[in-house]
Amino acid sequence: QSSPIDSVISFIKSNNIKFVDLKFMDFPGQWQHFTIPISQFQADSFENGFGFDGSSIRGWKAINESDMLIIPDPTTMFVDPFIKAPTISLICDVYEPITKEKYGRCPRNIAQKAEAYLKSTGIADTAYFGPEAEFFVFDDVRFDSGPNYAFYQVDSNEGKWNSGREENPNLGYKPRFKEGYFPVPPTDQLVDLRNEMVLNLESLGIEVEAQHHEVASGGQCEIDMKFRPLLKAADQLLMFKYVVKNTAIKNGKTVTYMPKPIFGDNGSGMHVHTSLWLKGKPLFAGGGYAGLSDMALYFIGGLLKHAPSLLAITNPTTNSYKRLVPGFEAPVNLAYSSNNRSASIRIPYGNSPKAKRIEFRCPDPSANPYLAFAAILLAGLDGIQNRIDPGEPLDKDIYDLSPEELKDVPSTPESLGHALKALQDDHEYLLKGNVFTEDVINTWINYKINKELKPAALRPTPFEFEQYFDV
Ligand code: GLU
Ligand code: MG
Ligand code: MG
Repeated sequence: QSSPIDSVISFIKSNNIKFVDLKFMDFPGQWQHFTIPISQFQADSFENGFGFDGSSIRGWKAINESDMLIIPDPTTMFVDPFIKAPTISLICDVYEPITKEKYGRCPRNIAQKAEAYLKSTGIADTAYFGPEAEFFVFDDVRFDSGPNYAFYQVDSNEGKWNSGREENPNLGYKPRFKEGYFPVPPTDQLVDLRNEMVLNLESLGIEVEAQHHEVASGGQCEIDMKFRPLLKAADQLLMFKYVVKNTAIKNGKTVTYMPKPIFGDNGSGMHVHTSLWLKGKPLFAGGGYAGLSDMALYFIGGLLKHAPSLLAITNPTTNSYKRLVPGFEAPVNLAYSSNNRSASIRIPYGNSPKAKRIEFRCPDPSANPYLAFAAILLAGLDGIQNRIDPGEPLDKDIYDLSPEELKDVPSTPESLGHALKALQDDHEYLLKGNVFTEDVINTWINYKINKELKPAALRPTPFEFEQYFDV
């Protein structure tokens, strides 16, 4: 059996590969890359890595200490279908160039530490994650991106009625408001595009379970991948976003994962299905509520207890909190329930112990998946370690409850500012096993406040124009 490094080297030779594209994750959550001609790539590249300037990467180094190193992980190779010359991609880890230690703010390193910490607790050896990242497909998006940008216009063939634009002639088969989910073509105009996305995903070795239109009428879609262990699930989520966006661009369309692009219609969530396993045995099935084990219920207890701070990582943008409002299948209350889509945590129906899992419905696809999955795991583990009681399930449509009935049910945070404040006050659970560090937490909070929260608050918005233009 050849080692992963040998397989990469022999694949390069036998397929006449010309370039190696090195991809790594930045701090907020976007893949970065640079490319090496094959003449510069050898087996020892997996040891020596490649240098780059870390000071231009968001949230990382100061200019005076900017040199950084990335080292590719040979198990992550895929042929990149969106680069013309024959190219393989490798996902990389970020290192300090002098000490050759893994860089503390590298999100992939944080995910690796979370997996190692799980094993060290003896509670489980594997945490599976199945993210469902919803997205919108638009024909055209324009915004003035200058320092004063205030207007944007979203144009979508299907969402014509949202944009108010007149030009596309075929207004006949438009999904009615909130009825985008499931009508066959010609109402669903995106089936071929989604199929092309699925074929591209499969060619990269990603197993897809289903694809479908989603509820929002502006061309909202979902493609579901099979669950994977934490690190692999996060790697695959980035490949997924890359494939979906690039397949759309090739077809003259634009994809966005922003959680709430259109006011008044459903937003895009990234529900996360998760379960713990030990030595090939599922640990979340048992004799408790909805067929859950005590361990699963404590895991839920941990998620609910830490949700206000956890959301600063799983719902990390100012736009995230425009999704978490009543009436759009997004969770607004911190409660759990079997099969209830208005609760933050749903226990999907199913009797097989292997399929027993919980669905955490708060996260959205603007999250950095390495950080989000690591933080979800740590919150759940804290629940198990401290036997945190999740309280009674809430088996009602939470959107219909009166304020009186809801008075003891806590809500999701109101804004990114509230979530960051909660993270400031509650992050001990993230420091366990040195998975997140004080440096990572502080950098995250400061980055989000100074680069996103404050600048967003300073800008006039379209709504302000509508309200105040004629004062
Ligand atoms: N789009 C909804 C959300 O924002 C979820 C719809 C569904 O249940 O799949 O979470
Ligand atoms: Mg969905
Ligand atoms: Mg779901």
